[in-house]
Amino acid sequence: MNPWIAKAVILTACIAMIAIRAPHGKRSRAVKTVKSVRGVREAILLVLAWVGFLVPLIWVASPAFSFAEYPLNLTPLLAGITCLVLGLWYFYRSHADLGTYWSVTLEIRESHRLITQGVYRRVRHPMYAALFLYSIGQVLAVPNWIAGPSYLASFAILFLLRVSLEEQMMLDAFGNEYATYMAQTKRLVPGIW
Ligand code: SAH
Repeated sequence: MNPWIAKAVILTACIAMIAIRAPHGKRSRAVKTVKSVRGVREAILLVLAWVGFLVPLIWVASPAFSFAEYPLNLTPLLAGITCLVLGLWYFYRSHADLGTYWSVTLEIRESHRLITQGVYRRVRHPMYAALFLYSIGQVLAVPNWIAGPSYLASFAILFLLRVSLEEQMMLDAFGNEYATYMAQTKRLVPGIW
């Protein structure tokens, strides 16, 4: 199959992701931050995730990764599109449920409340689950050994190094309320983990 089909899919998915996030980013930045767990490590992780996100776009726009190309097949492409669409839907839902409490890094906002409803009812990190679904979609839909897994690899590192820190920050901010919420939910996959 023509790799330009996969390129069009990836470009559309990236634009959709940015379009979903943009209004929420603007709204949450308008709310004052009262606590921030920023540091060099968090900054490096964010840059890494951004690079991982940008690599497929470089693949769309240039021949930079042509040496790592392999033929595009219909089955993985369709599976990839399914994951991308589900990931984008879940990403939209988690942004809608988290509202202005969302932040690109780890922050507690003014009058921050704990969200336990909507997509937050059964898992504590639905937005990260959405980004995993999305990045798995890219692995399947992008016929390139570098551009395909780049976001999954960089996001997995960010997730693994950040998730305990985020949960500790939430425990410090919400105490028993978050401890109870942790006991009632899983991290990423309902009923499993
Ligand atoms: N880990 C979550 C949220 C990612 S955005 C997810 O994957 O869906 C990161 C910010 O969300 C953190 O700075 C934290 O303050 C906030 N946050 C995380 N879980 C929350 C919850 N259940 N209720 C309110 N805010 C939450």
